[in-house]
Amino acid sequence: MSDTQPLVRLAAVNKHFGELHVLQDINLEVDRGEVIVVIGPSGSGKSTLCRAINRLETIDDGVIELDGQPLPQEGKALARLRSDVGMVFQSFNLFAHKTILENVTLGPIKVRKLKKAAANEEAMALLDRVGVANQAHKMPAQLSGGQQQRVAIARALAMKPKVILFDEPTSALDPEMVNEVLDVMVSLAKEGMTMIVVTHEMGFARKAADRVVFMADGQIVEEADPESFFTNPQSERARDFLGKIL
Ligand code: ADP
Ligand code: MG
Repeated sequence: MSDTQPLVRLAAVNKHFGELHVLQDINLEVDRGEVIVVIGPSGSGKSTLCRAINRLETIDDGVIELDGQPLPQEGKALARLRSDVGMVFQSFNLFAHKTILENVTLGPIKVRKLKKAAANEEAMALLDRVGVANQAHKMPAQLSGGQQQRVAIARALAMKPKVILFDEPTSALDPEMVNEVLDVMVSLAKEGMTMIVVTHEMGFARKAADRVVFMADGQIVEEADPESFFTNPQSERARDFLGKIL
């Protein structure tokens, strides 16, 4: 596991859903500590890309590697992959019938084999870090969307992931809650977490992204640093897309 090889590497990845060629010859390398923002029109394959990296979707051909190793297919290795690759979804996906604290400790107890007391201690520190420690004994439905999404981030961190994938983490939030979640993500980025973030939040991209990857129709059309991408997009499709969202 050399430090010079990319943490995540996709090479010539293809995926179809029936007739639909949803990922077309995708090549992408993400270094340790790098923050990638993926943007592009709805249906362009952004979620499928994230899901493939977490192996929630299989691919037809090509390779996806984490730390130089191809993604495992099954069994314990797959469970380990799921803790190495954190995922934060648009819809929070907290366990509705568990407390906030239990939501964060469940994985560490089951997968990392932590004792409950140790898991609780770590979880409280993480909840504190995302600003919701005082909600630990409530149920998810008692929290605002912004608070729930911050819990989801704490839950991902509790597995000590090597990389966290965020799939439109603020799209389901009321506008006044977007920033409290983005602020947590910006601080994670500054602390050196490797992140792949699907979002149209340009402010976040400008503040935190090392690189913007623009996808359209299953392809990576353009990659650039945020400033160049937003001020001087190279492709017609990127210009067209930015014209619609800015
Ligand atoms: P994005 O996240 O960029 O909006 P997605 O990766 O969700 O795009 O979807 C890309 C395309 O693949 C869309 O046309 C979508 O309808 C299709 N798709 C996604 N998941 C499935 C699936 N499980 N079965 C069939 N088609 C799918
Ligand atoms: Mg999506």
